[in-house]
Amino acid sequence: VQGTADAEIPEQNGVAAPPALSLAPPELSPDPILSEEKVLVSVEVCLKPSSTVRADDVRSAVERMLEKRSLSYVDGPVEVPIDNPFLMDNVQRISICDTDEWAKNHGVLLFWQVKPVVHVFQLSEEGPCEEPDADGQLSSFNEWILPAKEFDGMWESLIYEPGLKQRLLRYAQSALLFTEKGVNPFLVSWNRIILLHGPPGTGKTSLCKALAQKLSIRFNSRYPQCQLVEVNAHSLFSKWFSESGKLVAKLFQKIQEMVEEENNLVFVLIDEVESLAAARKAALSGSEPSDSIRVVNALLTQMDKLKSSPNVLILTTSNITTAIDIAFVDRADIKAYVGPPTLRARYEILSSCLQELVRTGILSKFQDSDELLPPNYASVTGNMNLLPREAEAAELCKKLLETAEVCEGLSGRSLRKLPFLAHSSLADPTRCDPCKFLDTMIQTAVRERSELPD
Ligand code: ADP
Repeated sequence: VQGTADAEIPEQNGVAAPPALSLAPPELSPDPILSEEKVLVSVEVCLKPSSTVRADDVRSAVERMLEKRSLSYVDGPVEVPIDNPFLMDNVQRISICDTDEWAKNHGVLLFWQVKPVVHVFQLSEEGPCEEPDADGQLSSFNEWILPAKEFDGMWESLIYEPGLKQRLLRYAQSALLFTEKGVNPFLVSWNRIILLHGPPGTGKTSLCKALAQKLSIRFNSRYPQCQLVEVNAHSLFSKWFSESGKLVAKLFQKIQEMVEEENNLVFVLIDEVESLAAARKAALSGSEPSDSIRVVNALLTQMDKLKSSPNVLILTTSNITTAIDIAFVDRADIKAYVGPPTLRARYEILSSCLQELVRTGILSKFQDSDELLPPNYASVTGNMNLLPREAEAAELCKKLLETAEVCEGLSGRSLRKLPFLAHSSLADPTRCDPCKFLDTMIQTAVRERSELPD
């Protein structure tokens, strides 16, 4: 085993670690330090838009590069080596992913404990394509080629309690593998339907899109093409009421065509599925034509039909759980509750907002240093003999924590808007240091909270 003294620890995206809270994730086993087993760590390599080289060549080059370097594995970017012209010419960035669970439990993962799994991809810049229907009206669904530029960085920007994102990723990976391997569904049953439910603005739709993007990258050797179809369930009923049945049929016919191509991995995102239940209930009570029952039933039947295709995953969201159609809930394998952000998540979200405002020069740099953010709160508060600089850093961390506390009850969406609202209420927005800005954020948060419905 090589020494670790020369290990270089990549920056964790410059994001300050949250304060130490009693939110430790469950212990994981096997412990890579004690066991011989290596931990599989994903290394994502994003090619430049101009690159035309083969992904396999880049993968080998990155694997060789990783072998040569005694790297510590922590989530975040790895510098592309300047003495490697092939990688410099073709690679936009290299990132290490999903080590956070291990890092929290065991400290840093060192290169000899890790088996890197390299995924090379290129982002599609095509944007969403909305196909107008025969009458020239805009269709009620959007379609993206994945991995798409729009969703780049979305996964990393979504912050939840430890384990939620990993659980979803692992679930989807297992579901795709079971189907791929032809596991007999009469003996072991599973669907490829995920339901995320919770209050509005908690990032459910974004998480579905980000998950699809992640999977398109992770599965790109098996499925070189990948698409996401986004349907708003509500629009199926409201826009074309009498046309709804036809619309569902047309939509699923299109999805079926995509799925028939076996190298295609297809994600179908159905937002606001609670509107299905609402439509059915309204039809039963006679306040809506019975057409809508047929539409809901058609949708469920079509979803069942899709189940036989190995290369499709259905992602659904709902803002309310109680009103979701029971028939629908039964079909979903994973029903994850996505709640308002915890204190720790709020701290991290606000910390990433602050970092972005410093990066773009809207806030002055932290103590004019090159570091974008103050050091880790926990490490600073534990030290009794603080240097003046560290004491100030701790002050900033404390204020950030105070802001996060004041933001209790705000959704992730409101939190991400808060810095903008705070900035727009500044008396002198041209000169702004992070600590003073946090004072304004606290006032803005108090105002926002007072405007929340009871
Ligand atoms: P929902 O579908 O639950 O209504 P969205 O996916 O539309 O929520 O979320 C809106 C935006 O709010 C996201 O794009 C994201 O910027 C922000 N957001 C919500 N929850 C979180 C979170 N937990 N972490 C980071 N950002 C969040």
